[in-house]
Amino acid sequence: MHRIEDRPDRGATALVAMLVGALYGCSGGGSNPADVRDALDAVAEDAAGEEDAAAADDGVGAEDGADVSDPVSEEFLTGIVEVLASEEMDGRQPGTAGWAAARTFIEERMTACGLSPAGSSGWEQAVEGDVGINVLGRVQGSDPARRDRVIIVGAHYDHLGDCGGAICNGAYDNATAVAAALAVGCALVAAPPARSVLIAIWDTEEPPYFLDPEMGSQYYVDHPLVPLPQTDAAIALDLMGEGLWPGFMGHVVLGAELSPEVAAAVDVAEVPAGLLAHRLGLHAVEDTAMGHQPWSDYDAFRNAGRPVLFLSDGQNKTYHQPTDEVSRVDFAKLLLETRYLLRIVSGLGDAATNPTFVADGADYARDAASVLVVLDAALASGGLVDALGLGASVRTKLEQDRTAVLAVQATLEGGGTLSAAEIGTLRTATQRVMCLAGSTYPDALCMLL
Ligand SMILES: [Zn+2]
Repeated sequence: MHRIEDRPDRGATALVAMLVGALYGCSGGGSNPADVRDALDAVAEDAAGEEDAAAADDGVGAEDGADVSDPVSEEFLTGIVEVLASEEMDGRQPGTAGWAAARTFIEERMTACGLSPAGSSGWEQAVEGDVGINVLGRVQGSDPARRDRVIIVGAHYDHLGDCGGAICNGAYDNATAVAAALAVGCALVAAPPARSVLIAIWDTEEPPYFLDPEMGSQYYVDHPLVPLPQTDAAIALDLMGEGLWPGFMGHVVLGAELSPEVAAAVDVAEVPAGLLAHRLGLHAVEDTAMGHQPWSDYDAFRNAGRPVLFLSDGQNKTYHQPTDEVSRVDFAKLLLETRYLLRIVSGLGDAATNPTFVADGADYARDAASVLVVLDAALASGGLVDALGLGASVRTKLEQDRTAVLAVQATLEGGGTLSAAEIGTLRTATQRVMCLAGSTYPDALCMLL
């Protein structure tokens, strides 16, 4: 694979150089190199234009515009999301020129900040048949006794391409999470935790690959590059930097209940001021009227008995729509989430004991508290009901859910054990909000609520 090795800066000049390198950097899926070149040339022109404008605005030189020394910054995150969700990436559908260009760009970012290639071939791990290509970069752990153990921070980079006659650019799904994963990896190069950290930019998460053996994260679990027993936690990031409704600062951390040690690491990680982060059990979003419904790249690791976390802001009205654009992203929120993620990953990386997995772990008291946080925000002025113009009957339903969850909370505070119906109350309240906020949940999940 041809690469441009010498990139002294990460401004427009280097971006163009990288894009030329991309001509030869696309390996799979039958992409046309000329298409890749055209796509990346166009992105380079856009980026150069924006940097010129930025230089005129604040006096920062163009060569500094994309060269962000602090990866945990809005500038770093914006620079990644704007490229991955640009028109030229064409929705990053596996097999297309835009998808290959996105991967080349991600590998360039990993190279630039000093991550080490950790794929089976350089940065890459090809899913059999070149259906998909995972991109894997590693931060070596600082403790020789623990650096053979790994914390995985994963986010999928593929998206839908053409979705019903228009291109879905996939800013929120999932360029923002890729940016957060890269930012955390780049930040850890300078301050590695005891364990190693694998930044896993998964491929083929979207349909038609979802939950199939060809799903990038599932393929990795079936062909791990670090033995699974040495994988102490796998974090999946999907849908970050927006909200269930415009302005909502909610951020859900799911799956911690499946490992006491992971839960402890999450609980000691300080939540940045302004971010409404809360833990919730996976059962609340997975146990639905349509059966067991996993939602993202954590699933394969959980099924293999490894501790997981799933961090998400949830599906909103842009989900799998052409409206999922960079202009909708709240980069200030994405930055808070990235800071929070970095604290969680650092904590897990330095954890004194190796996390264990508890298949039936649950924390219903915490679930009830989290559901109440979301319901209160949904019912507040400017919340879900107001922001989406929902009717009085919806408000009444949410108020009834709130009353029911308060009753569950009272049962728990009184030392009682929840009945199946009370546990169902937590799930119903959670999934009603999901159905109201999202755009594509199937009727089987929502109509019975
Ligand atoms: Zn996604």
